[in-house]
Amino acid sequence: MTDSYDVVVVGAGLTGACAAALLVRHAGIEPGRIALLANAPPQQPAVAAGSGGAGGEGGAASENIAPPELRVVAISRASERLLRAAGAWPLLDQRRLCPYERMRVWQQDAAADGDAALCFDAADVGEPNLGYIAESGALLRACLESFRAAGGALIDAPLSALEIGADSARLQCSDGRALRARLVVGADGARSRVREAAGIAVRTRDYRQLAIVATVRTERPHQHTAWQRFLRTGPLALLPLFDGSSSIVWSLDEAEVPALRDGSKGEFNLRLAAALDGVLGDTTLASERRSFVLHSLAAHSYIAARCALIGDAAHVIHPLAGQGANLGLLDGAALCEAVSAAVARREDPGALRVLRGYEQQRRTHNLTMDAAMSALQFGFGAARGPASWLINRGLSLVNRSGALKRAFARQALGNAGELPRLARAAIG
Ligand SMILES: Cc1cc2nc3c(=O)[nH]c(=O)nc-3n(C[C@H](O)[C@H](O)[C@H](O)COP(=O)(O)OP(=O)(O)OC[C@H]3O[C@@H](n4cnc5c(N)ncnc54)[C@H](O)[C@@H]3O)c2cc1C
Repeated sequence: MTDSYDVVVVGAGLTGACAAALLVRHAGIEPGRIALLANAPPQQPAVAAGSGGAGGEGGAASENIAPPELRVVAISRASERLLRAAGAWPLLDQRRLCPYERMRVWQQDAAADGDAALCFDAADVGEPNLGYIAESGALLRACLESFRAAGGALIDAPLSALEIGADSARLQCSDGRALRARLVVGADGARSRVREAAGIAVRTRDYRQLAIVATVRTERPHQHTAWQRFLRTGPLALLPLFDGSSSIVWSLDEAEVPALRDGSKGEFNLRLAAALDGVLGDTTLASERRSFVLHSLAAHSYIAARCALIGDAAHVIHPLAGQGANLGLLDGAALCEAVSAAVARREDPGALRVLRGYEQQRRTHNLTMDAAMSALQFGFGAARGPASWLINRGLSLVNRSGALKRAFARQALGNAGELPRLARAAIG
């Protein structure tokens, strides 16, 4: 027997789960006619345990609250609005979200509090914060819960095959189930099977780097600031967490990673504090260390007959600006709007004409962000001598220009390019 749906979203990562939750609430389609295919049931949150806290900030440190999850993401204010529209935001434990109020970016040859350090503040644009550092798992669970509560069909079976026909697509699940859909949304990550079945080619770039991710405690408080230092070996981010600790994303050449990831904690702490130029004093490792391969990917097209790609299935960018998940959420919102407009006109939501509107809205924006991240990664990484002086001089000029600083702050808020209506209400 084949179950029939209007929309099947393949992949219950953050992008797919949020898009599915938006679709059940805003697309004008009967919720039971929207399905979400998950690879595996979502993990439950960690069991509560005293976190110990750090740096005297956050307030939650002394409570019996589980320590932060290892994987966190910087969520822009635009993404916050989308998660609200998806019904997920109120389901989050607000105590575990850490608002960040400013960003401080500096280069290896400069000082964090010097002229050449770029500091942009939510207050510059009259906002209370630039966004939140949130736990990836918590965001995902909230989106899934919202999707289910609104009546969407969550199917715990990965996609094993996809055939695209003129009027519908036929999906085969690994447990033998067969589904039909007028529109298949590929939210199945960088190795997307939907993308492959739709015959969409990709351009990839291997940075030949890995990012080490860990939670650390710092001697001094994080000041609700996202710190980013561009070292010649790669960017290093220090993101504030709700319990006063911080999350690091430390990009390094492949050859350098094993010693830091698997070596002694003491050596790691010393090297990290040095790499951060002691900006928050000594650092102490407070979690396991994991590494992630860094690459970029851009699909040549986001759409094919009866298919649309969103999130990492369509684009992967360098994590240095913490934008990948934010872009994926915006993709889902733009697609939801295209589908809802089609449904209101009684059009087929899987028609290419409808999907073209989605692609036009998102592809150029995402490509621009990818190019900007690659340029930053390359520019800062390679800068020595005169080039380094030029970059520091440029940062210092930006720092002194109110208009440019406001433009950067707006970018962090998520207010760049043409935003979907669902996110536009986020910020002026
Ligand atoms: C170190 C690091 C730090 C980052 N920090 C940030 C940040 O601060 N802010 C930010 O915005 N972004 C950040 N990103 C990027 C962000 O993590 C990704 O862009 C985002 O997680 C992509 O989500 P996704 O749902 O599109 O893809 P994925 O997370 O890859 O999810 C895809 C889902 O599809 C499922 N799937 C795959 N195949 C199938 C199948 N055949 N059937 C069913 N399901 C399937 C997978 O199991 C998975 O659940 C970071 C990335 C890295 C590597």
